[in-house]
Amino acid sequence: MPSLRSHPVRLSELQGIEFSVVQRRGSVSQHIGPVRTCIGCRTRTLPSELLRVVAVDGTVVPDVRRRLPGRGAWLHFDLECLRNAERRRAFPRALKVQGTLDVSVLRAHLEQHRGNKVAGQARDQHETRKQVDPS
Ligand SMILES: [Zn+2]
Repeated sequence: MPSLRSHPVRLSELQGIEFSVVQRRGSVSQHIGPVRTCIGCRTRTLPSELLRVVAVDGTVVPDVRRRLPGRGAWLHFDLECLRNAERRRAFPRALKVQGTLDVSVLRAHLEQHRGNKVAGQARDQHETRKQVDPS
């Protein structure tokens, strides 16, 4: 009986399409979650992989606790990403600040962070710039 057969098939197809659309939408937000873009290398990744920075009085400061008010930008714990961001003037653009921004505080923070977590950042094979810790 073709009429009996075609009806349930069409219905299930329709449901299947609706379901797959919903599922696809849901799975995207679930899998990727809230992603941020590193302003240095433009890689999209999880916020936990990145450092939030904000501009305070013309200086880019690391917002380690992610509590500082204002517009934030995201950067890898990587001096190379900092250099890239500087070169393409990504900080003023991302932070919506006119003029130049001082990144010396941020650079020092990244250098310190790299010294603490060398294991996680095995990119630099030659650790030529050893940091001298005054403490
Ligand atoms: Zn990066």
